[in-house]
Amino acid sequence: KNTLLVARDLKKYFDIGRGQVVKAVDGISFSIKEGETLGLVGESGCGKSTVGRTIVGLYDATDGEVIFDGMNVGELNKKEKKHFTRKAQMIFQDPYASLNPRMTVTDIIGEGIDIHELYEGKERQKRIYDLLEVVGLSREHASRFPHEFSGGQRQRIGIARALAIEPRFIVCDEPISALDVSIQAQVVNLLEDLQDELGLTYLFIAHDLSMVKHISDRIAVMYLGAMVELADSHDLYEEPLHPYTQALLSAVPIPDPNIEKSRQRIILEGDVPSPINPPPGCKFQGRCKYAKPICREVTPEFKEKGKNHFVACHVVK
Ligand code: SF4
Ligand code: MG
Repeated sequence: KNTLLVARDLKKYFDIGRGQVVKAVDGISFSIKEGETLGLVGESGCGKSTVGRTIVGLYDATDGEVIFDGMNVGELNKKEKKHFTRKAQMIFQDPYASLNPRMTVTDIIGEGIDIHELYEGKERQKRIYDLLEVVGLSREHASRFPHEFSGGQRQRIGIARALAIEPRFIVCDEPISALDVSIQAQVVNLLEDLQDELGLTYLFIAHDLSMVKHISDRIAVMYLGAMVELADSHDLYEEPLHPYTQALLSAVPIPDPNIEKSRQRIILEGDVPSPINPPPGCKFQGRCKYAKPICREVTPEFKEKGKNHFVACHVVK
């Protein structure tokens, strides 16, 4: 399969005044193949949403490159940029906050159709009805307002809004984290069905590994603005190599109570350090039980340690 998106040594810093800079994303590289789902996991504040926003162009990168379908996103002219924003869409975590409460569903879904001048009049209305059906809602919902819907339904409206302008790539930024557990699987199933039907490519962001397990082909783990591990989904669950991934995975409950009881939970001591003054060397050193002197001085390289299995750690052989 073709590579659709490449991020190369991507950095996104935020200047917060008084000479202080938050290094939200500090040099990460990955690629996503056409039709693939890459899961992106990490604790809140690790920079995963910033990665998502930067690769769809909502933020300008501080440094590094994003290549989408062969185009350098940082070098697009106005017309190309408009086309890119159409092809790379985003679905947000909070379906309550991301829908304008004063707009009807028709207006919300129609907005992008109008901006990109895709359909008019009756065809536009038909397109909106079709999209509502595609996401499991109906045309009766078209004239209603966001507050009349449940959380799961609002997320479906958010998905219809993204699909309206025919994207190829969607960043799903914690799309199920705010939903009831009983609704989460429905939304994941919908996203998977849409991917099959429309050939979509996803970056699926979540704060814990259990949420990305089923939808992801590969999974990337981030810690404090850096990518610490990237592997095929199966390999990451069966053989996590980075100490941070191992800790995250030990927090995912196993349905079998016999296994669950005998399992060792790895409790992470200490807090995530501030991204304003991250420690030198490995950013995980302060919480890592394997840390050696070199870890405090030298940043570990992100290296292939097994087939398609990348890790940034001095100790992993
Ligand atoms: Fe731990 Fe050192 Fe590996 Fe960082 S590089 S995860 S501190 S062993
Ligand atoms: Mg993802």
